[in-house]
Amino acid sequence: MAAANSIPLELRPLGNTGLKLSSVGFGASPLGNVFGPVSESDAIATVRQAFRLGINFFDTSPYYGGTLSEKVLGIALKALEVPRNEYIVATKCGRYMDGFDFSAERVTRSIDESLERLQLDYVDILQCHDIEFGSLDQIVNETIPALLKLKEAGKIRFIGITGLPLEIFTYVLDRVPPRTVDVVLSYCHYGINDSTLEDLLPYLKSKGVGVISASPLSMGLLTENGPPEWHPASPELKAACKAAAAYCKEKGRNISKLAMQYSLSNKDISTILVGMNSIQQVDENVAAAVELATIGKDEKTLSEIDDILKPVKTQTWPSGIQQS
Ligand code: NAD
Repeated sequence: MAAANSIPLELRPLGNTGLKLSSVGFGASPLGNVFGPVSESDAIATVRQAFRLGINFFDTSPYYGGTLSEKVLGIALKALEVPRNEYIVATKCGRYMDGFDFSAERVTRSIDESLERLQLDYVDILQCHDIEFGSLDQIVNETIPALLKLKEAGKIRFIGITGLPLEIFTYVLDRVPPRTVDVVLSYCHYGINDSTLEDLLPYLKSKGVGVISASPLSMGLLTENGPPEWHPASPELKAACKAAAAYCKEKGRNISKLAMQYSLSNKDISTILVGMNSIQQVDENVAAAVELATIGKDEKTLSEIDDILKPVKTQTWPSGIQQS
């Protein structure tokens, strides 16, 4: 890990927020046991290692593990014993284990519950979680105005929206006053099997909105171990990613490293949010970023994988409800 320690992880500005996020962000859904069980001591050690290697951005949600991820992340951040302004925390509202509720009343209550679980006085970013499952007009007319009040109250610093279909972002951003929504979090749309987020980046830049891209490993598709049972991809997409992972392994390459480097190489994206549940994964993902900065991408293998993934390129899966 000498390389990871000798070169600091790059910090990138997040839209107009003034925040600078580490290029590798810490996705805390695995701390809610979403990808298999993780002990509290492993979670604390993983977060500690991430912070030690320069990761300053941590993302969670009350939905992950039915509030477990927030609780465990809160414990792990406290255990760092560093000033609060040395790390940036994002959580979410509107999606819970028992369903979706983007009402002003629920999201206003939600932040107090999240702050208590996280043991924090404020979060840096509060994001409406998977808005395609709610009414986008409610998000515009009710949820975001409620979040603006939370901003005024000092409970949150910035407002974000998250979800899978890319058109939800333009729908909302075209209808809210400028500089109301500070951040979008897109997932599974900037990786080696699907990079369609790229087309939206100029629009987001023109709106001054910061971009977080999550799930560079396509929620496990681009790993040697493969995805969890609940993964929504088609059997065809799963099979192609499995073949690509096996091809890399055969050549002595690691598909997760290549996938991280591919996602990290677009600097219009502020941070690549990857879910991690072990010191080893933190070490590998930070090393991938450092190697990208010093040596560059393995273009040859990436192009070979591209050929394997060609038949399923940009294939995604349905998410959300029909909007009126
Ligand atoms: P991901 O693509 O980051 O993959 C995570 C999986 O890859 C986990 O099983 C993890 O243990 C494994 N992994 C991590 N590093 C690895 C490595 N070097 N080698 C092999 N395996 C490795 O998917 P994700 O966790 O779903 O996404 C990242 C984060 O982004 C989430 O934790 C969450 O914070 C956020 N996110 C948000 C939304 C949303 O708001 N709707 C959706 C998806 C993700």
